[in-house]
Amino acid sequence: MSARRSASFDGAVAFAQDLIRIPSLPGEEGELTRRVIAEMETLGYDETYTDELGSAIGVVRGGAGATVMLSAHLDMVAAGDHDEWEYPPFGGVIADGCLHGRGAMDIKGPLALQVHVAAALRGRVPGDIIVAHPVYEERGGWGMDHLTRVDGGLRPDVVIIGESTHGDVAIGHRGRCEVEIVGHGLAGHASAPDRARNALDLAPAILAGVTDLASAQEADDVLGHASLVATGIDAVPASLNVIPDRITVTLDWRILPGDTEEGLLTRVRDALKPHLKRLEADGWPAAGKSVEVRVATERQRAYTGVEEERSILSPGFLMDPGHPVVLAAARAVGKRGADGSGGTATVRPWTFATDGGWTCGVRGIPTIGFAPGEERYAHTNTERLDLDEARWGYAKYLELVPAVQVAAGGRS
Ligand SMILES: [Zn+2]
Repeated sequence: MSARRSASFDGAVAFAQDLIRIPSLPGEEGELTRRVIAEMETLGYDETYTDELGSAIGVVRGGAGATVMLSAHLDMVAAGDHDEWEYPPFGGVIADGCLHGRGAMDIKGPLALQVHVAAALRGRVPGDIIVAHPVYEERGGWGMDHLTRVDGGLRPDVVIIGESTHGDVAIGHRGRCEVEIVGHGLAGHASAPDRARNALDLAPAILAGVTDLASAQEADDVLGHASLVATGIDAVPASLNVIPDRITVTLDWRILPGDTEEGLLTRVRDALKPHLKRLEADGWPAAGKSVEVRVATERQRAYTGVEEERSILSPGFLMDPGHPVVLAAARAVGKRGADGSGGTATVRPWTFATDGGWTCGVRGIPTIGFAPGEERYAHTNTERLDLDEARWGYAKYLELVPAVQVAAGGRS
């Protein structure tokens, strides 16, 4: 085992530089996982391990009080054309007071802070700190879904997600679901349309149903409107001299907390019904095959070799702004830039989805977000983390963690 080092902000920044230098697309997080576990061991964590999907987990034992989970994620989005970057995406360069590169703020910078904060809090917190960085966040959150699964998964009392909030406290976000509407016809040669049923003829009715449903989306006071839009249409066979026998219309649906797969699909089916009914006089459905509505799926493969067919559905979540954990977090963080006892932090939703959809939206564990960094740099080729803000964020984390543990109380 390597020599024990103590936690510090400067140590966290050096660690973050190392993390940026290890690319980690979803399904390719293995080397990064090993680096994270090595840092936890060097910092004297009581326990470290990886799960079946290769997520990195470390534990710093506290007292009998509430257990908090600190979570970022191991994967990153692609860097695109390296020449388009001012600083190399995998360089971990520090310049102009900022840490630069893919993952600087989403999310390797905050991940590094969380790993050091947990070690720095040894002996100063009322309960255990679990630091759990899952794989596959950027493609729907398989890693966190697996980590907190009902049978034998982790069950902390409160979760802090380390996605950037620019110093605010985040309490939720909309979710996202990709829905496919599949219509069937009869293929035929384009020179003889009478002998075929063109599946594209279903498109107007399908799009009219989608438009009806899009105009009837619900709103939430904090999160705003759910929104639904058709983003693609595919016809097969794709040959341009063949009448297609199948079309697939794809919908991007930004959903509200509590929306379930079955509930969403029922709403699409109901919206399509009157429009498809009008086609019956023309002999639809063709060959007895009615229009199918389903959630899009993707076969995902963890770097450990485990595979799963996953629905493309990232759940949303929303904490009550008056929840004791939210109030305690806003007090502990305070207003950034204010001297001394500077009031309470701004409480607001994120604009993007996070693993909080799984921990809170699906598993019901109180969850808040806090991390330095500006959301507008996420997934861009100017990604950066301001180091003054990060230093402030590190200090605030030291107060935030015990504050939410006290507010979350004991196990319910
Ligand atoms: Zn992220």
